[in-house]
Parts: sequence; C-alpha cells; structure tokens
Amino acid sequence: MIFFILVQTDFDYIIIGAGAAGLMLADAFGSDPYFKDKTVLLIDKDAKKTNDRTWCFWEKSAGDFDKIISKSWNQIQFEGENYKANHEIAPYTYKMLRGLDFYSNYLNRIQTYENITFSQALVTGMVDHKSHVEVTTENGNFRAAQVFNSIFDYKSLYQQTKYPVLQQHFVGWFIKSDKPVFNPEMATFMDFSIPQKGNTRFMYVLPFSETEGLVEYTLFSADTLPEEEYENAIKIYIHEKLNCVQYEITEKERGNIPMTCYNFSAMNSASILHIGVAGGWAKPSTGYTFMSTNRKTKELVIFLKKNKPLSSFSHKDRYWYYDLLLLDILFKDNSKGRHIFESLFKGSSPQLIFKFLDEGTNIREDLHIISSCPKSYFIKALFNRLF
Ligand SMILES: Cc1cc2nc3c(=O)[nH]c(=O)nc-3n(C[C@H](O)[C@H](O)[C@H](O)COP(=O)(O)OP(=O)(O)OC[C@H]3O[C@@H](n4cnc5c(N)ncnc54)[C@H](O)[C@@H]3O)c2cc1C
Repeated sequence: MIFFILVQTDFDYIIIGAGAAGLMLADAFGSDPYFKDKTVLLIDKDAKKTNDRTWCFWEKSAGDFDKIISKSWNQIQFEGENYKANHEIAPYTYKMLRGLDFYSNYLNRIQTYENITFSQALVTGMVDHKSHVEVTTENGNFRAAQVFNSIFDYKSLYQQTKYPVLQQHFVGWFIKSDKPVFNPEMATFMDFSIPQKGNTRFMYVLPFSETEGLVEYTLFSADTLPEEEYENAIKIYIHEKLNCVQYEITEKERGNIPMTCYNFSAMNSASILHIGVAGGWAKPSTGYTFMSTNRKTKELVIFLKKNKPLSSFSHKDRYWYYDLLLLDILFKDNSKGRHIFESLFKGSSPQLIFKFLDEGTNIREDLHIISSCPKSYFIKALFNRLF
C-alpha cells in the first residue's frame, strides 16, 4: 500500500471514509483473493490516530475482533423506574473495542495489501457520470467505476417528513476513582432511574476495574442538549448513584447516531453505495451499528461478486417496520421510552432481546418480544401508520 503518494487517478473502487465501515470494506477488498486485481483508493480527511469512540457489541462465542477487544462482560444490568435486574447473558458476551485499537490494527493490515492506496484528504464533492464516478478532494480528483461513501450528513434526513428523525446523543466520561466504586464484572446496559425530563434518558456504564470506568449520559430524542446538561447529569450520577466523590476524568467521548427509518438507499445509484451510518446501517431503534456493519460488509462482498448495480443492494424487512413503530412512538411522546424498555426487559430475557436486535428471531420469538412491550402504544402507532 502507498501512503499519501498518489500515482493513479483511475481506480476500480473508491471508499470514502476510513471509519468502521470504510476500514472493514477495505480489509475485505485486500484480503479476499477475488478482489486482488481491483485497485482501491481509500480516502479519509483524518489520520485516524485518536481514540474518538468506544464500540461495544454482543456476540456468541469467538468473533472477528477478539484479538483487539480490550474488555468483555458476561453480565449486564438493566434498571428502570420500578424494576432492576442483573442478567447473566451467556451464551452472549458483551465486548468492548477501543476506536484507536481498531483503526491502528486495520490500517496496519490494509498497508500490506498491494491493491489498496490510502490518501489522507478532505472529500469536497462527488459527481456520478454513470460510466464512472468522479470524487473531488483537496488533493485532486479521482475516478472510479464504483464508489462506497461513508460520509454522513443529517441534511438529507431533515429534508423529508415521512420518517421521524431521532438522535442517540451522548457524552461519556472515563473516570478513575480513589476508592472502588464499580463492579468490573457487570456492564450497566441501561439505567433509567435518572430524571427523564420528558425524554428517553439513561445512563450507560462500562466498568473496566473497581476504580475505572466509562459513564455515559445518553438520550434517544429529537434534539441535542447544551454541553453542560450532559456533564451535570454525569456528575450527579457519579456522586449519587456510584457514591463516588473523589475521581479524575481521564478522557471524554461524545457521539451522535441517527435513529430513523429514512430510506437511505434512495441516495444510492448503480455506481454509488452509501455504507455505514450513511447507508442506514445503524439500527434505527438502538443506534448499534458496529456489528451490523460487519455483517453488511460480508453481504456486500458476496453481492459485488454478482456484478449487479449497487442500487439493488438494500432491502427492507419486518424489523424495519418494528423499528419504525418504536420511533413513531418516541417521536410523538419522547417520555415513553423508559416504560417501553422497562417492560421489554421485564418480559423478555436479554438473550432474546439481543437476538431480536440482531434481526435473527423467528415469528414466535417476535411475538414474545412484542407482547412484552406496552401493546396499546404499538397498536396506536400501527393504526396511525396504516391510516
Ligand atoms: C462516540 C461513539 C460511540 C459509539 N459506540 C457504539 C457502540 O458502542 N456500538 C455500536 O454498535 N455503535 C456505536 N457507535 C455508532 C457507530 O458504530 C459508529 O458511529 C461507527 O463509527 C460508524 O461507522 P461509519 O464508518 O459509518 O462512520 P465513521 O466511523 O464515522 O467513519 C466515517 C469516516 O469518514 C470520514 N470523513 C467524514 N467526512 C469526510 C470528508 N469530507 N472527507 C474525507 N473523509 C471524511 C471521517 O473522518 C470518518 O473516518 C458509536 C458512535 C460514536 C460516535
């Protein structure tokens, strides 16, 4: 791989963005012998040298990222207003991957692939000429037969009103306390015992040891908050819930993930495919994206071998409708989230919930999940969608 020295202007594929989706796809293009004669340009404005996010996902047994996982948990806690439970999640494990470990590992691997060139440059535009796509960057223009674009912009989501747009927005503090305050064996998946203020608000806690952990204030709502509101909520939680007075903030992270059933595939063409969050690969009802990106990348590789137009890659299934109903409910009355998630965790095991969120349940299991949620909300939302 050649870093930053571009000698070619024509490529088979251009991947825009070396984040989760771009790196997974580039790695597939480099490691699968089918693509060894395909030239690939991977472009990112960033050198990917900062630890800008912490990914977590659940998985049964061993997985593709195990070598770079920094922590995993076999138990999770859920807390609602009137319900609290600790769950063993076997055969699942909840795994954590630091963004920087992923970027370094994947960029190092990609560097060994001769068919892939990485360029650090800001992409400023893209024109679909049908015969090829031209990508404009601050380092010049590049042409490719097909482009995979992971630049996400909320603009297209707000230009329509058919599908509500919520955001999963959060601020997290990595803290180090002077005395033991965490149980390192159990991740707090959702703690809704905090004031809801008319929204769906919860705490997410990843304990690394008895004295170190990530405490994240998260909302599923339409609008973001002023910075100090997230920070004050974290401070109160650390003091009142974790009983921790003396601590040091070692790092901070913030994030914003779209939660919408918007038809992202409308932005694709025969030669351009949007991938990752930009392609609608974030689960609309939860924001979990990392493992769905891993799965979609594998599906995409199989699809590309069939030489079909990229616009025929996406499809809708029944999970899309389930997500749509939940988002309709939360968009109309954002305070209902706590009741819905509390009912869900009271009535279904986390194993079944994970399977459902992975979109791997059968109809009988779907009905179990649906019946554990407040039915009147969903029937009303379905009625509103239909009529
Ligand atoms: C802080 C945070 C924590 C998250 N935690 C989880 C989690 O625990 N589990 C989970 O499943 N999901 C999580 N997500 C959601 C999702 O997995 C991530 O957002 C993931 O990084 C999405 O991958 P992506 O490739 O779509 O986008 P990104 O990883 O954001 O990659 C997009 C890339 O495009 C580049 N780029 C953007 N604009 C340009 C431009 N004009 N020119 C060139 N390059 C450009 C960016 O530099 C970036 O590298 C989290 C997201 C955030 C922000």
